Amino acid sequence: MQGLVIVTGGSRGIGAAICRRLAQDGFAVAVNYAARAKAAAEVVQDIIAAGGRARAFPGDVAREQDVDALFAAAQDSFGRVVGLVNNAGIIGGASRVDELTLDALQRTLAVNVVGTILAARAAVRVMSTRHGGVGGSIVNLSSVAARLGAPGEFVHYAMSKGAIDSFTIGLGREVADEGIRVNAVAPGVIDTEMNPGERQARLVPNVPIKRVGLAAEVAEAVAWLISPAASYVTGTTLTVSGGR
Ligand code: NDP
Repeated sequence: MQGLVIVTGGSRGIGAAICRRLAQDGFAVAVNYAARAKAAAEVVQDIIAAGGRARAFPGDVAREQDVDALFAAAQDSFGRVVGLVNNAGIIGGASRVDELTLDALQRTLAVNVVGTILAARAAVRVMSTRHGGVGGSIVNLSSVAARLGAPGEFVHYAMSKGAIDSFTIGLGREVADEGIRVNAVAPGVIDTEMNPGERQARLVPNVPIKRVGLAAEVAEAVAWLISPAASYVTGTTLTVSGGR
């Protein structure tokens, strides 16, 4: 009985693997999703069938009221939050910068950056000793794209993940003596819907391990950073990319 962890975008891909993994560690898991209620319900069913605790909660992380409602509803179900995984993210469509639309740029930043900050703010307001909390751990999903730049396809996305790395350093240091650790995980090419098979095949030759990663392999790193085993680790980004 480890307390509640909220996982944004827990219905599919890396987020779903994180939910399952954290439930194995004994956490109650709030499985947030944007649109795919059925997929979120399946993750919850799997966790409960395996003896864990989970519930699905809808909400667009880019909307302040949705994030605050998510935290309120999840804590009504499972008690005070002890961890947050800012996993929800979008690629924002493939485009060179000179062909990028304002809508795609704004939506990418709204979900990947604003959404992460809104959820982290809500978590700090509960977990920080400054607010009467008992501490906790936040893990943000970055990407190796933050340092590779993703030219020709996802520069806007890469930039949004660069913001995640800066936010992780800054918030990590801001709340380090308030009982909260803040870290990021930067995956490489992972086999999820975000990466169609054609893209996976094109990128694998650049991966030193010569294969794509599995969502479960990213979840292991997240679970470690959430856990007390990482008690002296904060404000840093852990790369899970097969050497890329
Ligand atoms: P997927 O596209 O497979 O899944 C995205 C998840 O985020 C879904 O659960 C989706 O919910 C949810 N989501 C999307 N928008 C919102 C929103 N506005 N509010 C709440 N939830 C939302 O993504 P991945 O699993 O591949 O990626 C997960 C994270 O890992 C992302 O932050 C991504 O940038 C990062 N990452 C992924 C890599 C990869 O190779 N796959 C590499 C590096 C980083 P729903 O099912 O309801 O649509």
